[in-house]
Amino acid sequence: MPEVPEMEIYKNYLNQWVKGKEISELNILRAKSINLELSEFRAKVQGKRIKEIRRRGKYLIFDFEEGDFLLTHMMLDGRLFLLQLDSETLKKTDSPKAEDLQSVIMGSSAEELKNIVKDLPGRASVIFGLSGGLILFFCNLTLGYLHYLDQVHLDTKLQELGKDPLDPDFNSRDFSKLLKGKRGMIKPWLMNPKNISGVGNAYSNEALFSAGILPTRGVSTLDDAEKENLFDSLVRIIRDSIRLGGDMEEPFAAWDDFTGGYNPYFKVYDRTGKPCLVCGEDIQKSEVGGRNAFFCPHCQK
Ligand SMILES: [Zn+2]
Repeated sequence: MPEVPEMEIYKNYLNQWVKGKEISELNILRAKSINLELSEFRAKVQGKRIKEIRRRGKYLIFDFEEGDFLLTHMMLDGRLFLLQLDSETLKKTDSPKAEDLQSVIMGSSAEELKNIVKDLPGRASVIFGLSGGLILFFCNLTLGYLHYLDQVHLDTKLQELGKDPLDPDFNSRDFSKLLKGKRGMIKPWLMNPKNISGVGNAYSNEALFSAGILPTRGVSTLDDAEKENLFDSLVRIIRDSIRLGGDMEEPFAAWDDFTGGYNPYFKVYDRTGKPCLVCGEDIQKSEVGGRNAFFCPHCQK
């Protein structure tokens, strides 16, 4: 599941490529991915210009010049993909002109699209035709979604979320305060978006390893130094991952060889039975709070 680093990388790409563009056409292939009737969603979104893309936790928010917003969450396997209808792309297709290919894509079913756009990272749920010959695909929004919201409904939705780990107004002291008086195990606490937003299985495991804390440790047993160390580890790992490309197999566009660059740097996540890079002991896996916890039984207490 994409977490803060992967969504931040999407945000950066979108601000680079899609910011300022008008959504001239829509192809909605999965009605359940949106929150309005098809015709209403189309009427609200078509012709609007994207002012900026923001991220909060695992959410992306598309701000429109005209007001109102689109809020998207990828959940488990949602993916974004950008197609540029330039000469390189057109060489690989039978379609002679960019406009033709755009109209073909905008009129195709999800089944047909698999053959038309070979690099697509899954089944297309919603497609935006953008000004300047760009096509943005929202794929695999089965559990995820793309919702059109006004300011009031956006605020209500975001109010449920805890602080973002990259919020400049959030520091280790605030983090320690949040943990004060809390019960339960630390790993599920870290992954609860009401506590802090955007931390999922991969980065909670990595941060706990880096801080030398077992995923099953009770929140009430952590001392101040451990809490600060955990927060600093989490932020450092998230920043490193963003710098190196995050953890995702599917590229954002055909030319994207940056996304996924952090994958070889995981120290415990998905490394069951492999030697700990610090002490050599086997990395273990167990279920904690309904999710897989990966840890070193020697390095983490
Ligand atoms: Zn170890």
